[in-house]
Amino acid sequence: MKVLELIDVNKEYKLAGKEKFKALSDVSVSFERGELVSIIGESGSGKSTLMNLIGGLDSDYTGTINIDEIDLKTFKDKQLDDYRKKKIGFVFQSFNLIPHLSILENVTIPLTLSNVKESEKVEKATKLLTKLGLESQIRKKPTQLSGGQKQRVAIARALINDPDIILADEPTGALDSTTTGQILEILKEIADDGKLVIMVTHSEKVAKISSRIVEIADGKIIRDEKKADYMATPKEERIIEEKTSAETKKVKKKEGHLSLWSALKLSFHNMWASKTKNILMAIGVSISLMSMILMLSFGSGLTGYITATAGEYSNPTVVSISKKANGNPLDTSILEALKFTEHEVQTLTDEINALLESKENSFRVITDGENKNLEYGFSTPTISAGTVVYKPESTEEEPNPEEKTEQIFYTYTTPPYYNETHLVTESGHISGENEIMLSKAALKFLGLENSQIEEVVGKEVTLNINFGDIKLSKQVTISAIVDISLFESMMVMYIDYNFLNDCVKEAQVANGYEATGLSPTQLYIQTDSEQTTDLINNYIEKNRKDLAGSVEEQLEKMFSEMLNTFSIALTVIAGISLAVALIMILVVLYMSVSERTREIGVLKSIGARKKDIKLIFSMESFLVGILSGLVGIALTLLTGGILSIVFNSLLGFAPINMLWYYFAEAMLISVVISVVAGLYPSAKAAKLDPVESLRHE
Ligand code: ADP
Ligand code: MG
Repeated sequence: MKVLELIDVNKEYKLAGKEKFKALSDVSVSFERGELVSIIGESGSGKSTLMNLIGGLDSDYTGTINIDEIDLKTFKDKQLDDYRKKKIGFVFQSFNLIPHLSILENVTIPLTLSNVKESEKVEKATKLLTKLGLESQIRKKPTQLSGGQKQRVAIARALINDPDIILADEPTGALDSTTTGQILEILKEIADDGKLVIMVTHSEKVAKISSRIVEIADGKIIRDEKKADYMATPKEERIIEEKTSAETKKVKKKEGHLSLWSALKLSFHNMWASKTKNILMAIGVSISLMSMILMLSFGSGLTGYITATAGEYSNPTVVSISKKANGNPLDTSILEALKFTEHEVQTLTDEINALLESKENSFRVITDGENKNLEYGFSTPTISAGTVVYKPESTEEEPNPEEKTEQIFYTYTTPPYYNETHLVTESGHISGENEIMLSKAALKFLGLENSQIEEVVGKEVTLNINFGDIKLSKQVTISAIVDISLFESMMVMYIDYNFLNDCVKEAQVANGYEATGLSPTQLYIQTDSEQTTDLINNYIEKNRKDLAGSVEEQLEKMFSEMLNTFSIALTVIAGISLAVALIMILVVLYMSVSERTREIGVLKSIGARKKDIKLIFSMESFLVGILSGLVGIALTLLTGGILSIVFNSLLGFAPINMLWYYFAEAMLISVVISVVAGLYPSAKAAKLDPVESLRHE
């Protein structure tokens, strides 16, 4: 029965330009089962071309190639893949084993492509490898074997799917004469078992053991000689078991395709084989991911602080008004520009009342008398308020403790809407006469631990008021610690407006000035509703560019603006670095495809579909994504931890709020950009021409 028949087969290679090269002309020949055919001929005569056509690796020919009386040309892609996988077994001169897979895995690759059960694969492969004398080598890698052993592995791989035709292109070309003998013996037995073995060889000596010699010259068959004296190997001596019968083939159940899991394993093996490259790439990508997570964490951390601060300071029924002043906050003269004169207060009040009247709002600002709803406040721009001095009590160990002096960073008069909720200490109260409230920085100043916070209440300190020329020392009691989350580590003082006013008057008298008292830098209007508050705020924002909200509000605004700019800048940077990461992955995967061109050719020759190749490379990019994501998360946790420590020691708080879903997002992004980056290389890999890939050095 004719297994294989070629009728008038012609093959032309397209050369540069319009030129063509005729590699095969009018080849007509047929083969039967059990034949061991030697194809001989000069180098370049067209032997490999013929093999590739028969093997279904090259469909660009004219004429007919019939397999079991079916024209190969009628095969669809899928059938052709199946044909290569099941009908044909390829053996190459250079073995073409996949270097990063073990011997066992190399042999089972065709079964893996059919999604055969692991146990069945191992059983089949072990049986074959044992027969070929390789049972002790199955865990080794191809590089650990000799040439003859490698070729036996390649033969095992060609036989694993029990094909009808074995195509061996110069299988002994790279072997010495002893090993050549062994390999030929094996091929002969395969033929004697009823398979068609077509072998390309250079040497007549090798050809001698075959049952038929076909000689090609310049693409034409010039000799076709069957040997009458061909002796089949006696059955009992055969290593290869006879079992190919048409029946057993037909009952073979329909097999699957390369599974996701197998593709993942194959990709993992390959990545492992070039782990340094992959880890370096993952580190590169993970830096981008880290910058993204940290950016989000900073954004959320800072927003958290600002919102906390805003929640504390703003009161929906209080309008806070202060003057805008530009200049160096360390310069005390700026304070003069921030003060409201009585006249200015009056003008502003009239303006607001006129507005309210025009809007038919019944609320009016009242500056005096019993129904007064405008309160004064005072705050210093920054450092200038003066100092606090603490003299610790003498103890036995420390009979003469040193006095401590601390600069006050900000001084605020307590806003009228302040209440106990603004206090950090459980005991204590809003400060009144001869009292002040301090920020948490007081703890350190007083030499106390965080846990000793309640001990602050009632501690006595000396307050040195120091506004320009005015100087005064006053003994005061700390009535509570105030919560000012954003500036926790700075020494901030809250003091009652009237008390401070009295102190200033006292100081003015003591320094020989007129007792004019304090000029407000802050006006608070207690309104009747949020609506009124908004009305006044909007009016001031639009029409009084010289005025602003409270200092706290201004700071909050400034921080929000800074944060916005900062976030935009970081988003852009993170975006750019992610784009760079994507290109980097693309380049690495693209190079990986180039490096593995031959391997792709081998996979195709043993029946891998385009889809399978694509899947393997896509899985690889998926794994790159997972790896990068994991490295990125680890790196972020490390860097975030370090940054938290640094921030805490510098600022007393860490504006880093790492939420778990930032990590999930980073992982997702990592996988998505990797998979996207892998699309092009894997498509390219899938499209590679098998014949050219196999020629690839
Ligand atoms: P052999 O295996 O007998 O040494 P080949 O079948 O590889 O020869 O090649 C036959 C001829 O076809 C040679 O002259 C070779 O240069 C030419 N050839 C092979 N492949 C190509 C190709 N892809 N493009 C152009 N010419 C080719
Ligand atoms: Mg060749």
